[in-house]
Amino acid sequence: MSDTVKQCPICKLENQKVLADHDYGDKVTYDCSRCGRYTIAGTAEAIADRGDKSVQLSGWLRERNLLGIDIPMLTSHFLEEVISTLPIYRPSEKQNKLLQAIELLTDYPGKAVELKFENDTSLAWAQNEQELRHYLMSLIERGFLKLLSLTPVYSSPTSYVVVTADGWEYLEKKQSSLADKTQVFVAMSFDKSLSPLYNNAIAPAIESTGYRPYRVDADLHLDRIDAKIIAEIKNSRFIVADVTQQKAGVYYEAGFGHGIGIPVIWCVRSDELKNVHFDTRQYNHIVWETEVELKEKLGYVILATIGAKRSSN
Ligand SMILES: [Zn+2]
Repeated sequence: MSDTVKQCPICKLENQKVLADHDYGDKVTYDCSRCGRYTIAGTAEAIADRGDKSVQLSGWLRERNLLGIDIPMLTSHFLEEVISTLPIYRPSEKQNKLLQAIELLTDYPGKAVELKFENDTSLAWAQNEQELRHYLMSLIERGFLKLLSLTPVYSSPTSYVVVTADGWEYLEKKQSSLADKTQVFVAMSFDKSLSPLYNNAIAPAIESTGYRPYRVDADLHLDRIDAKIIAEIKNSRFIVADVTQQKAGVYYEAGFGHGIGIPVIWCVRSDELKNVHFDTRQYNHIVWETEVELKEKLGYVILATIGAKRSSN
């Protein structure tokens, strides 16, 4: 069994290790040199075949593998949720992801990390080797990495790099700003009819993933966005924005968070999907009909896109 190799159904690399083939292909565990380890249901392979999402899926899997975050079995249902909420990163974010991945591959400061360009495109969520090499060169030029190989990055299949003192300092600043955050900012209408939605669905879904929901007190809000709200958004790991009733404040808060790089999970009641503002319609929304449904889907999407909050000790 340990000798079995197959094409990775996610990234299409040939000859990837099959660790376990349960129940005659009903679910297969792969150890792909680009995606890392994951288990996929036979019925989900067709969904993974959507070529346009394979780069992001591969990046998402590799990142979770590197961080040691559990990856639930990729069923078709779960894969649909993941695909519909995968972020599209800007070049600057991809460059940061690459530096963070290299840090995770560094067992001790000073260790040389080998990058194999064909396999490691996923570290930067890059489309191809050329894009990965571009980010690597940028990080070297910025002084965060030092190239140890004698051959240039652009003309060899692998490169050895090491994180520099400036690189460590930069990473430290970055991380203290994100990883420690446990708060989730909830932006939603203050209409009384929606209060149970917060208590019965949104708050418990957030808590079930290890985060702490934060909602501005309705009386303090007064339909204006003050410094306190801005500070609470900045202090949040991500935002849950329910746009049911189409309140301008909800769009403003979510838009502000998005603008400063905080992930936003959009939600809307199904009868209002048609009213969703034009500018945000391009993002996938969790569409719900009942509190129970929202609670379940939101918990799922948080796990799929952000991952559970790991305890800090
Ligand atoms: Zn793969």
